[in-house]
Amino acid sequence: MDTNNFGFDFDALAEKDRDHMIHPWVDLGLTRTREPLIVVEGEGATVTDAKGHRMIDGIGGMWCVNVGYGRNEIAEAIAEQARRLCYFSPFGIIATPPSIDFAARLAAYAPGDLKHVFFTTGGSTAVDSALRFVSFRNNFLGKPKKKHIITREYAYHGSTLLSASVSGKPADRGNMDLITDYIHHLPVPNPYRRPEGMSLEAFCDAKVADLENKILELGPENVACFIAEPLLASGGVIVPPPGYQRRTWEICRKHDVLYISDEVVTGFGRLGHVFASKPVFDIEPDIITCAKGLTSGYVPLGAMLVSDRLFADLTATAGKGQFFANGYTYSAHPVACAAGMANLDIIEREDICGRVRENGPYFQQRMAELLELDMVGDVRGSQFMVCVELSADKKNKTVPPTNWDYAWRIFEKCRPKGLMVRPLSHLVILSPPLVITRAQIDETVEVLKQGIQEVADDLTREGLR
Ligand code: PMP
Repeated sequence: MDTNNFGFDFDALAEKDRDHMIHPWVDLGLTRTREPLIVVEGEGATVTDAKGHRMIDGIGGMWCVNVGYGRNEIAEAIAEQARRLCYFSPFGIIATPPSIDFAARLAAYAPGDLKHVFFTTGGSTAVDSALRFVSFRNNFLGKPKKKHIITREYAYHGSTLLSASVSGKPADRGNMDLITDYIHHLPVPNPYRRPEGMSLEAFCDAKVADLENKILELGPENVACFIAEPLLASGGVIVPPPGYQRRTWEICRKHDVLYISDEVVTGFGRLGHVFASKPVFDIEPDIITCAKGLTSGYVPLGAMLVSDRLFADLTATAGKGQFFANGYTYSAHPVACAAGMANLDIIEREDICGRVRENGPYFQQRMAELLELDMVGDVRGSQFMVCVELSADKKNKTVPPTNWDYAWRIFEKCRPKGLMVRPLSHLVILSPPLVITRAQIDETVEVLKQGIQEVADDLTREGLR
């Protein structure tokens, strides 16, 4: 029996995990043979596993623990609200004080006139609600043909049928039936993969033209919306060329196509602002979706924010026998909204956004050192989002074969050295808690450098590389 510092019986937990837990997003065959990583506690930007190993959490839970672990203030807010009123349905005209206050507080941060908040249970349901809202609105306004949705390859918007259908990672799209008849994927605006010799400006022109051409091909009267993450997060932290977000937003305006900015990852400080759309990308979307950093992951919550104009259309239904039939038992959950309020208190009081604007460039600059390694093809990102793309042949940007298990091996190498990263085939992704210190950033870079080098050496030794 492997009993650790925390009094957990690791082997017994691991066995129960194998027997009873269905893990998301993994080859379940592998969970039979690989030892699980069981995380038991966290403090600041670090977590400790059930064997007593402390690690810098380079993943931020899953892009979400923005204010860091172990915040008593959030725990207390959750406990207090649970004791006072654990739950009440938000359906109809019922509300709770934390949900009302939190909605108003979010509205104050939103760009333009996005003053109306619909709470959901997470990011997928925020995206789903946004798309269903657009559909409802167009049908209600007597424009049932305006139903086509434009999105992009390598986007990730969620795991419900509709949000998965607008997602575009090829590896995720093969094995389940998705909605395809009115959803269209544009090529990804990934500067690293632009044609040889093409300037960034010309690449930007081409990607913006992809959107306009698609709208014209479908007919603007048939296109409902364009949905886009400002940076494509799970698709590999893809940073579109400068000006792309603003120009695509202008095209949408021109053709009366709604723009949904999916800020599930980029919101709540990760790019140095509560919402990045306006201050970073100079866009005022019609709808913003958010989750994750909304409560720093302490409890599940998501939201969509819609503009005055769209909200006015919603309220025009009064007495006409139609309404936006969408919502969840746990929409506007009072405990989650109380957690969200405490989370925002911390973001404001500790100037977490300012801290990101100060330390984010340092993080990017230090991570860029990894480009010195000949197996690193690209290092890209912004503030506290970064992706290291591994390459089998740097010059030709060759994607390593899957049997190298490249990023997974790096994850395994880094763990015992005190760093957790997110492996995604040949990509290593980092999105640490925003409270990570400069010393922890330095350690992250050093460990990752070593890990990548050691895996490359192993691959060479095994005759694979
Ligand atoms: N949108 C984006 C941009 C995301 O990254 C994610 C999750 N990684 C989602 C939506 C879905 O959020 P959730 O997992 O909370 O449903």
